[in-house]
Amino acid sequence: MRYISTRGEAPARDFEGVLLAGLAEDGGLFVPETWPVLTSAEWRKLRGLPYPALAARILALFTGGQPDEAALRPLLEKAYAGFGHPATCPLVQIDTRVFALELFHGPTLAFKDMAMQALGLLFDATLARRGERVTIVGATSGDTGSAAIEACRDRAAVDIVILHPEGRTSEVQRRQMTTVLSPNVANLAVAGSFDDCQDLVKAMFGDAPFREEMKLAAVNSINWARVALQIPYYVSAALALGAPDREVAFSVPTGNFGNVLAAWAARRMGLPIAQLIVGSNRNDILARFLSANDMTVRTVEPSLSPSMDIQVSSNFERLLFELLGRDAKATAGTMRRFRAEGRMPVPDEAWKTATEVFRGFALDDQGTLAEIARLHRDCGYLADPHTAVGTAAALAVPPSDPAIPVVVAATAHPAKFPDAVQRATGIAPPLPPRLADLYQRPERYTRLPADLSAVESFVRAHARRNRGD
Ligand SMILES: *Cc1c(COP(=O)(O)O)cnc(C)c1O
Repeated sequence: MRYISTRGEAPARDFEGVLLAGLAEDGGLFVPETWPVLTSAEWRKLRGLPYPALAARILALFTGGQPDEAALRPLLEKAYAGFGHPATCPLVQIDTRVFALELFHGPTLAFKDMAMQALGLLFDATLARRGERVTIVGATSGDTGSAAIEACRDRAAVDIVILHPEGRTSEVQRRQMTTVLSPNVANLAVAGSFDDCQDLVKAMFGDAPFREEMKLAAVNSINWARVALQIPYYVSAALALGAPDREVAFSVPTGNFGNVLAAWAARRMGLPIAQLIVGSNRNDILARFLSANDMTVRTVEPSLSPSMDIQVSSNFERLLFELLGRDAKATAGTMRRFRAEGRMPVPDEAWKTATEVFRGFALDDQGTLAEIARLHRDCGYLADPHTAVGTAAALAVPPSDPAIPVVVAATAHPAKFPDAVQRATGIAPPLPPRLADLYQRPERYTRLPADLSAVESFVRAHARRNRGD
């Protein structure tokens, strides 16, 4: 299995190569050179497998034997062992034809754990085999940082430093990061904004000698391995509802387009997915694209579903590449114009192809609160604001055939966004028992000014390669 760049100017790599590289050298994203496709008989054989075994079977289709299924299976069992539900990601019926695929039973209560927990172990195993180590640096406004820290804590070949804007994350978010006391984890509270943190991280990557010295790495959402690790749960839900002998649809609350792209990949692999619904909040660029081929960037507005407060969905480039018939030159040109002009020029033919599979739907904050209240009142279900966007989208633009069930990706636990849930329902959702003492746990973090040399000195001192172990 080889991977090629969507922009066609980077050398092809194997799975381990794309795992460690993240972004391709030409600025493109890695995609499989050919998609694995399963027959109906092969899909049926996957029914009834425990989630980690199913995930190992699917991921092995993308690794080309390095690592193979036998090595992936114990790794994935370990990745999901700490989840708060024996089914890893249970499928719960919440309305007549609507199901919630609960992806939030991991350590940080959001769907990113599904991929990140396995990614940390994959990184560690691959680096150990090669005798290498890396330092992961990242900036977070809250959620991604905690998922990355939980994924990398106690990993032998990985040190991690996460920058957050001091005083500008929620207390749950900060504590989920700062109460991890593992020696390879450090948190920096930067006196500045999220943009300052992001600029500092970019500057560290741009400092070539520092980058090489520290072997800097990132675990952002354009990493192909993260997308690949999100495919199995779509397979799991579809099989549970009767696939491959019955069609299903998915509704996915969307930000960077990684999660819904994984659903598209499952469809490309032959899973009978009738429709994919892309849910957005007031940052509705994807809904505008799908309804009118209008992908024009506007300013990002804050909302009740902050993980979807995005204007440029980085993983969309992978779909664009497919819509353009895998023409890397055209993809590179389209992305260049998008960057320069703030509007993506997608040919009408390609846009029409997208609309055969994807439907878009956008919901503002008021609608989101109303949907959280409705789900609680009529269905007895407590949903977080992201999930509520997904359920509202499922009801607004369902497949026309009523026999097709719609599965909503439930991307966060309601206790992760307690204020919105309480406003809508009057109920303060409690943290699950394994996190109940979060507010009593000791915290550890370092305050620094938004200054590159101060941050670089800290990272250098933190890395265990410089601490002699
Ligand atoms: C990251 C995130 C999303 C968006 O997922 P993408 O893969 O970026 O589209 C949605 N909901 C929650 C809770 C998230 O953390």
